[in-house]
Amino acid sequence: MTGQITLRDLAAIDVKVLKGVGDKRKAALAEYGIENVLELLMNYPRRWVDRTNEARVSDLVAGQEALVLVEVRKVSRFTTKTRKTIVKVQVGDESGRFSAAFFNQPWRERQLKVGLQVAMFGKVDEFRGALQMNNPLVDLIGDRTGRIVPIYPQSERTQVSTWELASWVENALERCRERGIADPLPESLLNEYDLMARGPALWSIHFPDSMTAKQNARRRLAFDELLRVQLVLVGRKRSFELDNTGIRHVVGGRLQQRFIDALPFSITGAQRRVIDEIDRDLAGPHPMHRLLQGDVGSGKTVVAVAAMLAAVQGRHQGALMAPTEVLAEQHFAGVKELLHGLLVPDGGNLFGDRQLRVELLTSRVTSERRRELLHDLADSSIDILIGTHALIEDAVEFGSLGVVVIDEQHRFGVEQRAALRNKGSQFGKPNSTSPDVLVMTATPIPRTAAMTVYGDLDVSVLDEMPPGRTPIKTYAVAGKDATSKMWSEVRAAIAQGQQAFVVCPLIDESEKLEVASAEKTFATLGKAELKGLRLGLLHGRMSSSEKDATMSRFRDRKLDVLVATTVIEVGVDVPNATCMVVLDADRFGIAQLHQLRGRVGRGAIASRCWLVTETSDIESPRIEALCASTDGFYLAEVDLELRGEGTIMNTAQKGRSDLKLASLRRDRDLIESARAAASRIIDADPSLTNQTQLRDEIDLLLTRDEEEFLSKN
Ligand code: ADP
Ligand code: MG
Repeated sequence: MTGQITLRDLAAIDVKVLKGVGDKRKAALAEYGIENVLELLMNYPRRWVDRTNEARVSDLVAGQEALVLVEVRKVSRFTTKTRKTIVKVQVGDESGRFSAAFFNQPWRERQLKVGLQVAMFGKVDEFRGALQMNNPLVDLIGDRTGRIVPIYPQSERTQVSTWELASWVENALERCRERGIADPLPESLLNEYDLMARGPALWSIHFPDSMTAKQNARRRLAFDELLRVQLVLVGRKRSFELDNTGIRHVVGGRLQQRFIDALPFSITGAQRRVIDEIDRDLAGPHPMHRLLQGDVGSGKTVVAVAAMLAAVQGRHQGALMAPTEVLAEQHFAGVKELLHGLLVPDGGNLFGDRQLRVELLTSRVTSERRRELLHDLADSSIDILIGTHALIEDAVEFGSLGVVVIDEQHRFGVEQRAALRNKGSQFGKPNSTSPDVLVMTATPIPRTAAMTVYGDLDVSVLDEMPPGRTPIKTYAVAGKDATSKMWSEVRAAIAQGQQAFVVCPLIDESEKLEVASAEKTFATLGKAELKGLRLGLLHGRMSSSEKDATMSRFRDRKLDVLVATTVIEVGVDVPNATCMVVLDADRFGIAQLHQLRGRVGRGAIASRCWLVTETSDIESPRIEALCASTDGFYLAEVDLELRGEGTIMNTAQKGRSDLKLASLRRDRDLIESARAAASRIIDADPSLTNQTQLRDEIDLLLTRDEEEFLSKN
């Protein structure tokens, strides 16, 4: 091997070449998922201890938390009368000493050998006149010197110590020194984004001279992670655009304008802006692939219809696909109403205009009717077809499908969208043009998150609510009295002819348990708090026809209360439902609570949402946030904040994942920079022909884990 060392080279070097790694250590490392030098170097420290910054023993104050670096001086073990084990450890530095007590952790006796350097973190107590920490957090540092010591992810009982890891990393980096570590990024780009070179970054993430150096190293390496993801996403987007011919729709025509003029309200600024964004895509040579994010009630349907009308205007057709029959039917009714009386300018017609035709196709349509619909669809006498996934069955052929709108009310991933996109191309005949695709979601996510998760789509945002809405009032309810007051308010609302949803406790582990708990809630409420009212039950173990039947009864006001698990469909529109009770609300995430709440507040009457927790000592910042705001985008930001330090792939501490350092929360600027850099690189070289190193790193590092992550979130 000659030239600078690439990541691929590092991946080809077995850890056994390192000083001190024999068969036993190699096996232990393999348990960490570390088999080669690249994996070792990318096993970044979990934190760094700065010797000059930590407290000395003489600084410790009883009652306060502190981190100290100490040496183990004496270890002893006792058993109490109640047969509990206590390991007591004398530790100290040059300024003094204290003891640490570990309860029921007998293995500490083996772990904490006399002479070891350890970092201890915990609350300092006073015990028989001396200072003591009980069950402190312990990081072994070994005999490492240097001002800043890396602490590697490790379980306290594993065979590999953090100082061993550090010494192997050091050995590996020393041996790279002569040839140097190759950097795939040109200096101009490093300068532009103020990034340090890769070699020094790898050195500094493990052995920084200062905390600032560590920050800079982290920033560079996180940028690399994000850049790889963005290169894949932007590349995917571009190649789709290159491989597919779109219809150049004629936008700005009379039909769209007629529609907007005829609406009983004026469209919001956000709706106008998004319609323009979509029109620009529709007029372009590539098929649109755009995500429309808008909170529940933000008026996405109007935008979707405007897009479909741009197709109809040019004698193409529009299709609107909903995830369930109920939603398809609801859309059909809503869209028909919006389009009522709208005439399509038509030169071939004696009067210069013709009626617009909208139809519904679901599995409930009879076969005779279905034949008729398919016939009329193929000869283009249907302008807009609304339905479920039944729309994309093979037998369904459009005369000329121009715009597809997919109303998927939850996030869905790259893979699924790619499949949908391909289904989109199957709409037309072989070698024909691909329709434009608009995907709608009611789960807002912050812009930078969208850039990562929906990186292969363009994103439009409806961030303004139509005027004249009565905001939903949200209450945190805790304890017996508050809960019974809540039920009486719910009963009062029902007495006035309104309706209520009750969402049952979420049980993660098992649908079976969840259903059981829903059935129990249903029975209990029916006998007590909501006695005498008409209750319906909805859960995941019911067939879809049973669910639909219950939903319809609720919508037709034959039920007062719908007791349900989270299966109540998002987007279900029952304007008369004004009360939403969520039981055990602290178990739900912010996004989920926001979605649930969005099922009320759809009519003229003011709606209320109660978030119930068992006891008032549960302090939930999530519930607090929901009580304070109904803005989905704001809540999405709070959610991101509350999820804290987690990296993008939160769970992927171990193993091969490439997104180890980058964090959606902390690295927003970096995500934008990586996106911009990726776009520029791809524009100059769409298949990365001249970027062999970058391309190779993507192959090497972006494993199925990331693909799966990107498609799931
Ligand atoms: P979403 O699908 O985004 O949840 P919808 O498209 O169902 O929202 O719209 C919610 C309600 O708001 C509908 O009754 C719709 O007619 C109405 N609406 C949409 N746009 C406006 C607007 N600009 N002004 C007033 N009402 C509007
Ligand atoms: Mg909708």
